[in-house]
Amino acid sequence: MFATLSDRLTATFKTLRGKGRLSEADIDATAREIRIALLEADVALPVVKEFIAAVKERARGAEVSQALNPAQQVIKIVNEELVQILGGETRRIRFAKQPPSVIMLAGLQGAGKTTLAGKLALWLREQGKQPLLVAADLQRPNAVNQLQVVGERAGVAVFAPEPGNGVGDPIAVARDSIDHARSKLYDVVVVDTAGRLGVDAEMMQQAADIRDAVKPDETLFVVDAMIGQDAVTTANAFLEGVGFDGVVLTKLDGDARGGAALSVASVTGRPVMFASAGEKLTDFDVFHPERMASRILD
Ligand code: GDP
Repeated sequence: MFATLSDRLTATFKTLRGKGRLSEADIDATAREIRIALLEADVALPVVKEFIAAVKERARGAEVSQALNPAQQVIKIVNEELVQILGGETRRIRFAKQPPSVIMLAGLQGAGKTTLAGKLALWLREQGKQPLLVAADLQRPNAVNQLQVVGERAGVAVFAPEPGNGVGDPIAVARDSIDHARSKLYDVVVVDTAGRLGVDAEMMQQAADIRDAVKPDETLFVVDAMIGQDAVTTANAFLEGVGFDGVVLTKLDGDARGGAALSVASVTGRPVMFASAGEKLTDFDVFHPERMASRILD
């Protein structure tokens, strides 16, 4: 991911090398190149516009510096603006003062929620927590089973409706899971919810009902980075329908151009908190905006 964006930006900065002081024309030309690079990477237009305006303003106002030449100054500005649109500082999970903490996962079907539940559970265990995974996705016939498999791989318990109890009520399952966690002393409950292939009112309502039943400490919107521009539309729909505190980007191992990563946090005002880059449960980490920005500008 970000290979094209990274190459293009590097090429742009090269043209500034050796310049004594940047003229207005230099700044305009650089801004134009950065704009094209971001648009080609599928970054949403409003985000690109804001980004370019900020870079231009700061580049014009940049003091002549002993330490940095003009090219380095522009790189520094672009780096800082990238960190900003990626959510600023690394945002960590806020655990409840009184366990269990509740983390709810929301997102479209296929976004990678169930896989993420396993990754998150394994990660939580490494943080010394006792997580409980909750199968509140009763829409897809195989979803409960898939979560059980993932739970087994992560070595964590899964709370699911009893087999043979009919289709089951995902809201009741979610609610019961909190009592179960309390009585069995699990300290973090991770609730997997149903998604659809597209945004749909019924799914949104179900997710909102689950949210009301479990009162999450953190609601994470899980989004497939490969869906590019659509990520912004989907994110806005979830923000309005369910609300969320942070974003998890999945499939960063694919050949996504990176626009989703750069747009979602900026447009929704919610930080990217985790990134998932592969099908293995260990292909997962806390998201660090500065590291990602440095990678892009490497
Ligand atoms: P859900 O419908 O949101 O629960 O999505 P799933 O967890 O079932 O994931 C959908 C597909 O994406 C599965 O085939 C996963 O193996 C795959 N997947 C999930 N996360 C990643 C990732 O980070 N990278 C890759 N390459 N595949 C992923």
